[in-house]
Amino acid sequence: MNMKKLISMVLVLACVFSMAACKSKDEGDKKEEGGEEKKTLVMATNAEFPPYEFHEGDDIVGIDAEMAAAVAEELGMDFRIEDMAFESIIPAVDSGKADIGVAGMTVNESRLKNVNFSDTYAKATQVIIVKEGSDITGPDDLTGKKIGVQLGTTGDIYASDIEDAQVEQYNKGFEAVQALTQEKIDAVVIDGEPAKEFVKDAEGLKILDEAFTEEEYAIAIAKDNEELLGQINDALASLKESGKLDEIVAKYIKSDAE
Ligand code: GLN
Repeated sequence: MNMKKLISMVLVLACVFSMAACKSKDEGDKKEEGGEEKKTLVMATNAEFPPYEFHEGDDIVGIDAEMAAAVAEELGMDFRIEDMAFESIIPAVDSGKADIGVAGMTVNESRLKNVNFSDTYAKATQVIIVKEGSDITGPDDLTGKKIGVQLGTTGDIYASDIEDAQVEQYNKGFEAVQALTQEKIDAVVIDGEPAKEFVKDAEGLKILDEAFTEEEYAIAIAKDNEELLGQINDALASLKESGKLDEIVAKYIKSDAE
């Protein structure tokens, strides 16, 4: 074999190998782009609601965040959280910008007109926060008072029904609590668990024993996405059954005995 022949053979071989390499890379890419590709479950929330969703450094953590991530895992999906105003969550789900709304969201009639709700995953209450020494001792004393709420929440709806009450709406529950500390308002109506978190970090505030209402939280899903509703309910059922949901809750809500 002369030198020229050898070189051309090496070139041919190199070409064949590189083509093979190229081809297999192509096929690999196609596989990733094709049926194997994971869908992403996008959760809309308002991360101002500890212990359900709140910021911890750059992350959004909390019961809802971990529960929804576990749901996505059950469904073999990737997972992403979109943080937005509480009022924007239902529109985001309704328009398909997000797949699910998970935000300590209470199931109620008016929301059911725009979205479906999954099976419920938590019981909740609306409580009243006042300054220590306040003359407000229960829901009946709220008549004619200045009440702080988070805009668009069930607390906002209830407070608006109180006779002669002046309702001050804040974007974050925490801001309502701050206004109470500064004596700009007389009371805050808000969900029980966030109330505990906010009062823990504030001076001179207390939660009244008498709860205002009982409610239940569920995951919001677009009306036209019945398939996802079924999948979410199945995933929730399995997280309840396996004890995973209890485990997540216990991580964020310490029982009073502890
Ligand atoms: N549970 C209340 C509601 O659904 C508050 C939820 C929230 O502020 N994230 O309106």
